[in-house]
Amino acid sequence: MLRRIWGASLWVKLTAAFAFVVVVGALGVVVLISLITSREFEIYVTRDSARWAQWLAPQLATYYASNGSWDGVDALVIGAGGMPMMMQHSSPSMNHMGMDREMMGQMPMMRGEDMWTGMGLRVIVADKNGIVRLDTSGELMGQSLPHSGYDQATPINVNGQTVGFVLVAPLGTSNTPETLFLHSVTRAVLLVALGMGLVSLVMAAFIARQITAPLSRLAKAAYEVARGNLSVRVPVQGEDDLARVSLAFNRMAVSLERQHQLRRQLMNDIAHELRTPLSVIQAQTEALIDGVFPPTPDNIEPIYQQTLLLRRLVNDLRELALAEAGELQMSWEPVDLAEIILRAVKGMQSSAENKGVDIEYELRDTPLWVQGDAQRLEQVLLNLLSNAVRYTPKGGTVKVRGWKQGGQVYCQVEDSGPGIRPEDIPHVFERFWRADRSRSRETGGTGLGLAIARKWVEAHRGRIWVESPPSRGAIFTFVLPEHTR
Ligand code: ADP
Repeated sequence: MLRRIWGASLWVKLTAAFAFVVVVGALGVVVLISLITSREFEIYVTRDSARWAQWLAPQLATYYASNGSWDGVDALVIGAGGMPMMMQHSSPSMNHMGMDREMMGQMPMMRGEDMWTGMGLRVIVADKNGIVRLDTSGELMGQSLPHSGYDQATPINVNGQTVGFVLVAPLGTSNTPETLFLHSVTRAVLLVALGMGLVSLVMAAFIARQITAPLSRLAKAAYEVARGNLSVRVPVQGEDDLARVSLAFNRMAVSLERQHQLRRQLMNDIAHELRTPLSVIQAQTEALIDGVFPPTPDNIEPIYQQTLLLRRLVNDLRELALAEAGELQMSWEPVDLAEIILRAVKGMQSSAENKGVDIEYELRDTPLWVQGDAQRLEQVLLNLLSNAVRYTPKGGTVKVRGWKQGGQVYCQVEDSGPGIRPEDIPHVFERFWRADRSRSRETGGTGLGLAIARKWVEAHRGRIWVESPPSRGAIFTFVLPEHTR
């Protein structure tokens, strides 16, 4: 049974736990109340019996004094088929005999022994030798008073001499008013406990359901996500822990869905980017095979260029994938960025000259120490410079600046080209994004240059951004923490 509950769902477990606590609590209350009530009654009844014995003793003494023996004492205490004699005689003046209102109130309207039994009492009168002369229960008649009876018995004295004993004891049967009262109290408490138990059980089941319902919704949603349905969300109610878990789940689902979309987009982009050079290669080689063009170096050159582009594309993708997986191998040493700027400018000089673009540089505060990978930093600069040269028309200028400020090293590449439209600025660092797809592809760009530049700068704990003020070209700036030796 227990094992089955343990294996059941959470709400059954919670309800069972609540039920257990309620039952144990109710039983505890019943036992406690019964114990307290019966103890109180015992004290009360014992005190009551003693008071009755004290009330009876002087009357029995008077009776003995006038009668000289205990014969006929039953008529005095019980009465012969009617009211006890003592009541008949003394009833008008009971108060004088020490019987208080409380005692009178307890007397049932009965006669004889029924009166004592009705009050749950048993009266025993024994002579001076302890021989029982009267027992309202009839049990000990003629026998000697047991030893324990002496302790509770009240002696009856006439002229200073003990002539007998009177003992009033609770009857202890199941239908005395005391036991009846006790039973009715226990029954009432049990009924109340049962009712409360039932109400608490219903409430417990309700609360358990409230707690577990969001959990089962979460489990169902998690199952859906595992099956590939990333659009599933769970409702968030309130601000409690469960609501926070639901919120975290929804955020996770949103992020998974976004990642999924990005991956799909990336796959599409890669397929698209690979298709273009491959189509050029295919068309060109087909033309050569069919003899449309003679296989001269001039006709083979475009195929070679496309293979170079493909190679660059594959290399760039691999590097980006490694960087994203955090598995990029990078050297980490002090590097003078001024030196790298000079190297990159020198590297770009011939292609700039070919295009009729001038490259100028301005280095303040040399050396510009940063920490990182010299090769990757040079690649960032080459990507920026090649873009600047590519988008600057003939006769234009590309300016490279390097300086330090506030513990950081800045590097800026500004061109005198057409600049970037404000609406395009947020996208330029995205993979495969191009303002003019066909034009930049024609010029040999992979669409990954700026995405790679941003990755490398970020890997150096830096930041890169672009501005394009009106009537000026594009201004790319990156900043790295200065390395202090
Ligand atoms: P691509 O290989 O196409 O140049 P990049 O990631 O280097 O790829 O650049 C992405 C896009 O950003 C380019 O296609 C171009 O539209 C725009 N861009 C980059 N640099 C410049 C620049 N200096 N001037 C104007 N547009 C630029």
